[in-house]
Amino acid sequence: MAGAACAIRLRSLGVAVDLVEKSVFPRAKVCGCCIGEAGLKVFSQLGIRADVLDSGMPTRRWCASLAGQRIELSIPEGVAISREVLDPLMMNAAVRCGANVSMNCTAVVKGSTRDGVSVQLDQNGTTSLHDYSCVVIAAGLRSGNCSGLLPWTEVPHGPFGISVMASSADVDPGVIYMACNEDGYVGLVKLADGRVDVAAALQSGQASGAHGDPITRVRRILSASQFASIELSEFGTVMTTPPLRRSRRAGHGRVLAIGDAAGYVEPFTGEGMTWGMQGGIAAAELIASPFGDLNDVGDVWDRKLAALLRRRKRTCRLVTTALRSPAACRIAAGTLRLFPSLATPLLRSMNKA
Ligand SMILES: Cc1cc2nc3c(=O)[nH]c(=O)nc-3n(C[C@H](O)[C@H](O)[C@H](O)COP(=O)(O)OP(=O)(O)OC[C@H]3O[C@@H](n4cnc5c(N)ncnc54)[C@H](O)[C@@H]3O)c2cc1C
Repeated sequence: MAGAACAIRLRSLGVAVDLVEKSVFPRAKVCGCCIGEAGLKVFSQLGIRADVLDSGMPTRRWCASLAGQRIELSIPEGVAISREVLDPLMMNAAVRCGANVSMNCTAVVKGSTRDGVSVQLDQNGTTSLHDYSCVVIAAGLRSGNCSGLLPWTEVPHGPFGISVMASSADVDPGVIYMACNEDGYVGLVKLADGRVDVAAALQSGQASGAHGDPITRVRRILSASQFASIELSEFGTVMTTPPLRRSRRAGHGRVLAIGDAAGYVEPFTGEGMTWGMQGGIAAAELIASPFGDLNDVGDVWDRKLAALLRRRKRTCRLVTTALRSPAACRIAAGTLRLFPSLATPLLRSMNKA
């Protein structure tokens, strides 16, 4: 989705774009499927806000179970939308803008010189080599290190993500549920087609092995929470991710990384898609800007992306680190129950476009 956002903005700036996607849409992917006010602003910029709102379920409340307490807050306008619906919607918008889209096609960066970037494309068993003046990597959490061009500064570690679709009559439409304990956190939200998206970030590592399979762990977190009465049934296919926390150099030479491919914290604050799209738009504007030498665009991007997302990623890190401390959770839950308005600065900061 970061790649589609970048392509749409590049086309609006008159730049020719090849957009390559290795899967065939529609496809499911691990995600909590919630977009807040800042994300809706980005959809307006991309010209697809009305389509997203038409296909999604509006969200207005956030309900958390934290340290044995139930906290309910009103949230700014948002939407819950499945990735089976949202990603094709963005890809179609890129096609309408004139991007040359290849689906079911895998791209691998083979090398970068001062003249351009060499990329291998594999589609339907046919391999071809192409030279581009600039390449934007938006390959998500499973992206490689781009032939050593973009090394990790923090190798992937920490919790891993899981998601699965379920059905339940107990999940109210328009409410984002979040249950937390020391094993991780689980989010539930009802989608427009009536299914419930269940997404979680669970501790990885040796200790977590003893907790059982991901669905057992999700059920355990929910049954120990204030949402124990919510019955989930008919689980679909369970999808998981590698460890989530990572950061890397986001650009070098003529290669730029955006979205999860450029680094990720955790999903608790529900901003990954917005960070990805905002990064995609900013990268497009940098590439199209008349600053001259594309040979340095990746290095400039590395600094620019850090400045764009530093504050919000730091807040996300602080919140998710605090969630792992039972004492911090008790204090936060007690305070928010008594003074829910104290959440306003955090919500405002998360929803700043
Ligand atoms: C448990 C969990 C819950 C989450 N909940 C939310 C939420 O509620 N709200 C939110 O905003 N964010 C959420 N996120 C984060 C969000 O899912 C990601 O941040 C977002 O999808 C990143 O977008 P992206 O475009 O960088 O990567 P992706 O959406 O992963 O897209 C990458 C694309 O690249 C393709 N690709 C990969 N390799 C290649 C290749 N070599 N060649 C061609 N194509 C390739 C893939 O097929 C994929 O379609 C959640 C994450 C997790 C783990």
